[in-house]
Amino acid sequence: MPEKIIPVADHRHIHPVPTIPADIDTPTGSVTDVFARPLRDLRISVTDRCNFRCVYCMPKDVFDKNYAFLPQTSLLTFEEIIRIARIFVAHGVEKIRLTGGEPLLRKNIEKLIDMLSALKTPDGRELDLTLTTNGSLLAKKAQSLKDAGLKRVTVSLDSLDDTTFKRMNDVDFPVADVLHGMNVAHHIGLGPIKVNMVVKGGMNDQEIVPMARHFKDSPFILRFIEYMDVGASNGWKMDDVIPSAEVVRRISEQMPLAEIEPNYTGETAERWRYVDGSGEIGVISSVTQAFCGSCTRARLSTEGKLYTCLFATSGHDLRALLRGGRSDEEISAAVAHLWRARSDRYSALRTANTDNIANATKRVEMSYIGG
Ligand code: SAM
Repeated sequence: MPEKIIPVADHRHIHPVPTIPADIDTPTGSVTDVFARPLRDLRISVTDRCNFRCVYCMPKDVFDKNYAFLPQTSLLTFEEIIRIARIFVAHGVEKIRLTGGEPLLRKNIEKLIDMLSALKTPDGRELDLTLTTNGSLLAKKAQSLKDAGLKRVTVSLDSLDDTTFKRMNDVDFPVADVLHGMNVAHHIGLGPIKVNMVVKGGMNDQEIVPMARHFKDSPFILRFIEYMDVGASNGWKMDDVIPSAEVVRRISEQMPLAEIEPNYTGETAERWRYVDGSGEIGVISSVTQAFCGSCTRARLSTEGKLYTCLFATSGHDLRALLRGGRSDEEISAAVAHLWRARSDRYSALRTANTDNIANATKRVEMSYIGG
């Protein structure tokens, strides 16, 4: 059993306040980092709280009743989120994903979606506005989310077997309720819906083929995610990772697959189609095949820290700029300056040095930074 680690919250980390450059240049709709990667996606964590205690993400023994979740005053307000989102869109962000914690727990989330859906890219296009959820509140909220302007949802589901699923979510939540939420969302038009399954060896890998079979020939696109060494509380070990190649092998043995082209450059999932024409799956190989080279994502934590890598140990305190009276122009220049200096490529470096890096205890938790 690993030693109990108290995860980071805002006061447990030093977050540098971004520098405002002397030259305040106007955004051009495109900014690239030191490896020529553009800024295209923004993930916004709207809460660090969740009603699940997934063993690989928010294990109960750490995220218990003594855990210090962020106080309400630390959270970015919707107006603050919109100010930041508008700045990012001016720099080239085309896709915004709301996440957390469980984003549907954030009070009046529909209001935020409504405000975000009014933003347009510099050339007048609508944003790809989406959300990742555990599905528990989806049946109840799908219609109001759609009405507010949400385009689609991604749902996390790690097993079709109730015993395995409950062991993973650790709050006794049944599979049937998630499937119901997905169906409601599909019928309301929040699709195409992607289903994310994190595969943890010895825990739910026996569910790979049943999940594939269940979602084959359905409107849902199943994606298998390698269990990642994100955060410091889940006791991650390389031995628990089932490589995507193995996932594809196991499925293909029974339902032959062929690789297909990505939908767009920088897509995290590698796509495979069933040879019999009955749909596709995706595999996200963040551990065995790093995709840092095409990473165009920035992450905004619940309390306004900007992270330019999921595996970062600290973020940049945009909230300090927002609440410190800085103008949109100044914050915009600071964001561009940060992105131009970005050189993160954690996963690419990790492969060579897994054990050392995996032992790092300072990394932020996924529930805090937003998955
Ligand atoms: N609560 C929402 C949900 O369940 O989808 C959004 C937040 S959750 C952190 C986002 C995604 O991250 C989920 O699909 C979850 O399974 C995935 N995730 C969390 N910890 C992970 C880990 N250690 N490795 C791989 N994926 C992980």
